[in-house]
Parts: sequence; C-alpha cells; structure tokens
Amino acid sequence: MRKVIIIGSGPAGLTAAIYAARGNLEPVLIEGAEPGGQLTLTTMVENYPGFPEGIMGPQLMEDMKNQAQRFGAEIISGYVDKVELGESPFKVFVGSQEVEAQTVIISTGSSAKLLGLENERRLMGHGVSTCATCDGFFFRDKEIAVVGGGDSAMEEANFLTKFASGVALIHRRDEFRASKIMQDRALANPKIKVHYNTIVEDVLGDNAVEGIRLQNIRDKSVFEHELDGVFIAIGHNPNTEIFEGQIRLDEKGYILTESDSTATNVNGVFACGDVQDPKFKQAVTAAGSGCMAALEAEKFLEN
Ligand code: NAP
Repeated sequence: MRKVIIIGSGPAGLTAAIYAARGNLEPVLIEGAEPGGQLTLTTMVENYPGFPEGIMGPQLMEDMKNQAQRFGAEIISGYVDKVELGESPFKVFVGSQEVEAQTVIISTGSSAKLLGLENERRLMGHGVSTCATCDGFFFRDKEIAVVGGGDSAMEEANFLTKFASGVALIHRRDEFRASKIMQDRALANPKIKVHYNTIVEDVLGDNAVEGIRLQNIRDKSVFEHELDGVFIAIGHNPNTEIFEGQIRLDEKGYILTESDSTATNVNGVFACGDVQDPKFKQAVTAAGSGCMAALEAEKFLEN
C-alpha cells in the first residue's frame, strides 16, 4: 500500500514527486509511454526560470527526475493501462502489476496532435514545433508556416510575426474554425499569408527544416515552399482515456479540478499539469500545479 502514486513524468508529475518525497510520503511515480513528457520533444527551453542560458528540454526532465530520486521517490518505467478509482484504496495497474494507494496524482499530460508525416516527427525540435511560446524566439527574421485553422493557429501565427519575417498560415478548408476576432486579427496582419484549402504533404530537410511540400486540395496543384520552421497548431488531446467514466472530465476530455486546487471530484485523487489545463500548457505552470497536488495529497493524508 502506497501513500501516493503519481501517474506521468512531465514537469507536473516530477514536481509532485519532489514535493511528496520531501514530505516523506514515499511516492511512486509511473513514467508512462513518453518518459519526461512533451519537453523531451523540444530542444532548447529558454523560458523555464533559473536557467539564464536556457536548458535542453530532455536535460531539464532528466534533472527533475534525478532531483525526485535524490529525495527517495521511486520511479517505475511502465505504462498505466487501467485504474480503479471507485473506492479507497485506489488501484493502478501497470500491465500485470497492481499498485494500491491512498492517493493518486494524475499528471498524464496532453499530446499535441500531429499531421502524421514521418518527417514531421523526425524533424521535431529541428524546425518542427508544436509550441510557439516555447520556440518562436528561435525564428527571428526567418520564414515559417503555421498549420491549423482554430484559435491556436491564429494566436500562434500572430505571436510568431513578432519574430518571423513572414508566416504562411496553412488551413485545409476554405474557412477558419477560429473565433471571428482571432481570425480578423490574423487576416489584418501584413506578415501573415493565408493558404486555404491546402494540406501539408511533406516536411523537407535533412537535419533541419528547409521547406514544406503543399497541395491545394481544390485544383490538386502541388508546390514547395522554402522556410525554416513549421508550427503544428491543430489541437491537443488530453491523455485521459483510462479515467473516462471514473472521474469528471470536460467535453474535450480534460480533467475538471476545483478552482485554485488540483482536487478532482474523487476524494483523494488530484490532477495537475496539462491533463487539466487546456489554457496555459507551460512547463512552469505544470510544475506549479504539481507542487499544489503534492501539498494537497499530503493534507488529505493528514486528515
Ligand atoms: P481546434 O479548435 O480543435 O482547431 C483545430 C484546427 O486544426 C481546426 O481548424 C482543424 O481543421 C485543424 N486540424 C485538425 N486536424 C488537422 C489535420 N490532421 N490536418 C490539418 N488540419 C487539422 O484546436 P485549437 O485551435 O487548439 O483550440 C482548442 C481550444 O482552445 C478551442 O476551444 C479554442 O477556442 C481554445 N483556444 C482559445 C484561445 C483564445 O481564446 N485565446 C487560444 C487558443 C485556443 P478543421 O477546422 O477543418 O476541422
């Protein structure tokens, strides 16, 4: 029987592990399918406080893991494929292994949706990005593209014009899904050129992005566009499949937590990081909520 199980090993989960371990709760953390989470898909992280020269995403996550282990957190590599949160003790299954715990901290994050192109994954962090706030700075005076037609794509395209010399906004339909105000802002921006009815066929480049191949799906014409960066902004999926029916989720599948708290609707189950945050999605906000979850789990156990 464990006092705390943490599911997921991004900044939220590892921060929860650091706090829970220092609080003598002897936490066990299960890493999940992508140990370290989304930051392991990026290169340089320049907006995490405390690293004036920046730090590589994978290194930051390795450091957080070492820090958690130094205080006694047990880290298990494995994937949680089932949970039973109906009654205490809660049960978490990692394949055939079953772990019981008095509290559960869910920090399974979200995954950016990708186009599904082989070169998109290969060049991730080398010109392909899913986070303008994280990586926009690297594209000063460069040509880039943003893919998507929702609010995120509009917001990212506008934001990126602060750095880029030009932004090609690529959308698969002839009208945007984004709210009118966000569309208007993007359409009025002289640095943004919209390509409607257009899909990305391939991302080009050996070691870094050098261009994209596009297809206009109306007239079937195919053309290449030279550029240095591609931002994929076609939405995120929270990783909550295993919690469906057991915990309250919003209509998009994000875990609902109480305001100013990481408490879910199940007493003793807490959620932190991107799995409950469709809005900010930053490493530092995830880490902050991981701290809150550990402190709230500690309080719950005391009571
Ligand atoms: P979204 O609203 O789901 O939009 C996703 C966009 O990506 C859609 O235009 C969609 O095209 C396109 N897309 C999806 N899969 C694609 C694929 N495989 N290939 C090409 N295009 C694809 O996601 P989001 O923009 O991330 O927004 C998520 C939520 O956050 C929304 O509720 C949004 O309002 C909110 N948000 C708000 C703000 C703000 O208010 N400041 C900022 C960001 C996000 P189709 O239109 O053809 O389906």
